[in-house]
Order: sequence, then C-alpha cells, then structure tokens
Amino acid sequence: MLGRMPFDLLVVGGGINGTGIGRDAAGRGLSVLLCEQGDLAEHTSSASTKLIHGGLRYLEYYDFRLVREALVERERLLAIAPHIIGPLRFVLPHMAGMRPAWMLRVGLFLYDHLARRKELPGTETVRLRKSVIGAPLQENLTRGFIYSDCWVDDARLVVLNAMDAQERGALVRTRTRLITARRDSTLWHATIEDVVTGRREEVSARILVNASGPWVSRLLNEQIGITGQAGVRLVKGSHIVVPKMYEGGHAFIFQNPDGRIVFAIPYEGEFTLVGTTDIPHEAAPGHVEISDEETVYLCDTINRYFKRPIAPADVVWSYSGMRPLYDDAAADASAVTRDYVLDINSSEGCAPVLSVFGGKITTYRRLAEHALEKLAPYLPGLKPAWTEKSHLPGGDLPTGRFGPFLAALTKNKPFLPEPMARRLAHAYGTRVEMILGEATSLAHLGRDFGGGLTEAEIDYLVAHEWARSATDILWRRTKLGLHTPNGTAEALDAYLASKTGER
Ligand SMILES: Cc1cc2nc3c(=O)[nH]c(=O)nc-3n(C[C@H](O)[C@H](O)[C@H](O)COP(=O)(O)OP(=O)(O)OC[C@H]3O[C@@H](n4cnc5c(N)ncnc54)[C@H](O)[C@@H]3O)c2cc1C
Repeated sequence: MLGRMPFDLLVVGGGINGTGIGRDAAGRGLSVLLCEQGDLAEHTSSASTKLIHGGLRYLEYYDFRLVREALVERERLLAIAPHIIGPLRFVLPHMAGMRPAWMLRVGLFLYDHLARRKELPGTETVRLRKSVIGAPLQENLTRGFIYSDCWVDDARLVVLNAMDAQERGALVRTRTRLITARRDSTLWHATIEDVVTGRREEVSARILVNASGPWVSRLLNEQIGITGQAGVRLVKGSHIVVPKMYEGGHAFIFQNPDGRIVFAIPYEGEFTLVGTTDIPHEAAPGHVEISDEETVYLCDTINRYFKRPIAPADVVWSYSGMRPLYDDAAADASAVTRDYVLDINSSEGCAPVLSVFGGKITTYRRLAEHALEKLAPYLPGLKPAWTEKSHLPGGDLPTGRFGPFLAALTKNKPFLPEPMARRLAHAYGTRVEMILGEATSLAHLGRDFGGGLTEAEIDYLVAHEWARSATDILWRRTKLGLHTPNGTAEALDAYLASKTGER
C-alpha cells in the first residue's frame, strides 16, 4: 500500500525532533511518512525535566547562540500551546561556597536581556528569611534570586506535533521500526516493520530524516550503512518524584558542590519533581532506569537546602532518559554542548539523509525550521516557514490565556470536579470538546477507571492520539499513573483489548 508512491520525507523517530520536523514539512505541502518504533515520546522526549528554558547554566559554557534561541522560543511556544506550557518562577538561593552572587547576577541579567520578553517577568532579588518562599529552606540561606522560565508537558508536546502533522497530511505510524534502508541517485528504499504483528513493508522516499535520538549513530552505521559521520554521546539523566515538599507554584534551582544544578518543581498537584543527574551512558540505547546512587545524589541535594529531609523511601516514582548529545569531545558529561547539529549526507549525488544530533525540547521548532532550510536545495519550490505563530492542536484558547478558558469550561460543564476540569483543560485545550461532547453528567462519560480517567477520554486517546496500551495512557498521554489505584493498568489494558476486538 505505502510502497506505490515515493514520499518526499521518511522521518524516523517519533520524539520531539521527528514529530516537529514532520509537522513543519507536512505544513509546507510535503508528503511525509513518520515511523516510530514504540509509542510517541517513548524515550528521551518524555523523560525531560519538562522545562521550556533558556538554560541559565549554558551561559557558563558561552553557549550564547543556544541560550538566545531558546529564550526566544519560550514565548513563541507559550503562545502556540498555552494549554500544555505555562510560566514558572524559579527561586535560586545563594549559598556560600558556590557560584558568587555577582556571577549569578550577571548571568541573570544576560538571561533577562538576551532576547525580548513580553509575557514573562524579569529577575528580582529575594530576602529568603523575610519571605514565605524561604520558609521551607534552611536558615543559613538568606538571599536569592527569582527569575522566569516555563514548564511543559513534554510527552503531550510530542503528540500534538504528531497530530498536527497528520492533520496536515502526514502519515504517522507508531510501533513501526525502520529495519533497513538503501539509496540510489534519487530515492531511499526502506523496509519498515510493524513491531506488533511483524509485518514488513517496503517504502520509498526522496529524503530520509534520521531523528532517532539516542539511536542516531546506530541507525546511520547499522541500518543504512553510512559510517564516518558525527558521533553521539549518551548522557543519562534521572528524576525522582516525592510527595509535595512545599507550598506555592514556584520551582527551586539548587547548586551542588560538584557544580551541577538540580531543580525542585511543583508536579501534578500533590508532588515535587526533583532532577536531574548527568551520567555517561556507555551501553547500547534502550530503556534506562535510575540507580541507587542517583537517587541518593538527588535526595542529598534536596537535604542540603530544605529543612525537612527526604530519603529514597519517599520516592513515589522515578524516570530516566538518555540525552543524545552531539559529541564535541568535552571531558565532563555536564559540559557537553546542548546545542544541536544537523548533518546532511548526500555523497556522490545520492538521495540525502539528514541526521539530528542533540537538541532540546525547547528548541525543537527552530530545529525543524533549520532542518527544512538545510533540505531546501533538495526540495525545489519548498514553501516558506510557517510554524512560528500556528497553534498546536487545542492551543487556540479564545483569549490565549488558560485561566479564562478553564473558567468557561467549569461554567459550561458544572458537573466536572474542579481538578478533573483543570486536568482536561490543560491536556486537551479546546480539543476537550471532542471528549466531553454534549455530556451533561459524569455518567455520560462512561466508566471511570480512577483519577477521573473515563471511557470517553480513553476512546479519544485511542482514536486521535495513537494510544494503544495502559502505559501510553497512564504515563505519557496523561500522568494519571501517579493518581490511580493499583490494578488500574490491568483494567485499562483489558478495556483496550476489548476495543481492539471490536474493530
Ligand atoms: C534527563 C533529561 C532532562 C532534560 N530536560 C530538558 C528540559 O527540561 N528542557 C528541554 O528543552 N530539553 C530537555 N532535555 C533534552 C530533550 O529531552 C531531548 O533533547 C529531546 O527529547 C530529544 O528528542 P529526540 O526526538 O531527538 O529523541 P527521542 O525523544 O529519544 O526520540 C527518538 C525516537 O526515535 C525512535 N527510534 C529509534 N530508532 C528507530 C527506528 N529504527 N525506527 C523507528 N523509530 C526509531 C525511538 O524509539 C525514539 O522514540 C532533557 C533530556 C534529558 C535526558
């Protein structure tokens, strides 16, 4: 079926970079096939710290280009997806023996001024002993700074890019792996496999986009036989989730004696997210988990700053991911550039492959634009860039602001408990109507699997968001895994199996 017509682009990888490139390309009228071997955002793109940020720390490495681009993107992304992205204030306590106050002040001045800010407030200083913000912190911490960045639902950002790509004509295949590809002067000929059924298909495309994140080098070397390209360096990062440690909607950024920084961020209402670590990952890419040492490292950091200590036994959930960083030969994992490199191989007049090394959730939209700029010579008549101001699905909130949107939703659907209305409004924005429809009571939404996860929402996720398993739903499309009782995953899988049987 797929094999008959060559696509313009075959994008390998359903993380943020693959879906971002797929969306941008489809919106320019290109025919796109995107294949992801697992679920959308199954790997690095659901394992981030969930910040849309300039990366204050990268200023120390003089990564001004990256920081400026990221700062500009903050407000653009906030405008196109105000349901899944929101402003967040960060408290940076000054601690004796760490970076001096003057250095923090200079860094934050640059952070405030490297790019134009409209929505996000600038930096302030704070006397921690005189402010409620300082109440949970140890008494020796007397002053600090407060600056702005944004939070994001990383996994949903990926799904929304895939949805928009599909709505603009792309074909998105999850649980579909690129097995091998070879090229001639005009086309790539690839074999893709449905990893559930084992069924293989042959497809062809003018350009191959290798957005396979941690697999980027392996894909080049082993699946498509290209060697000698730039390398990737995998750096594992882990987070822990603990019961809420403090009141307030702000995050903390803490410095460690090893020079690294660790965030404590309000998470899912009842929790605090703490991360991250930076550990070189030498093994093959795949599923990664937090080690005992990382958990202790993160707890120790918190205990250096907070009055009330935490211990590994407090951890209710953890997750880890592999940063697929461009290998710039830095000695220390923390010092490897977070900037991205787009590498094109079209040797001897063959069909080109573009490989993505590195990148951040924050800069994915610009990365996609740069990727298409690089591919323009191979795509005569390519339409201009368009994603800067185009909403992602559900992001077209009537006033552009989340508060009034939530207020209107609770007025129209008074039967929704407030936490459920808030969760649905955040996750789906204006698309929430596709779940709630004409419902006038909770009963109209069908069985509740726990935490307000109803049949209506599950059916929507299956029909429109490629959800296939309980894990897809409980840990990526939502984070209801944190809020639902034991046994929910089994009940959900049984329900999904019954739906598959129906089809
Ligand atoms: C701990 C940590 C914290 C981070 N925090 C932040 C943050 O707060 N803010 C920020 O902006 N960035 C952050 N980042 C960086 C950001 O998460 C990554 O740069 C980004 O998610 C990488 O996306 P990707 O699409 O390149 O890779 P991935 O998300 O890993 O996607 C690649 C996909 O390719 C698929 N694939 C591989 N091989 C094949 C094949 N043969 N066929 C089909 N599919 C294949 C994989 O299954 C995978 O899903 C963080 C990263 C980590 C690890």
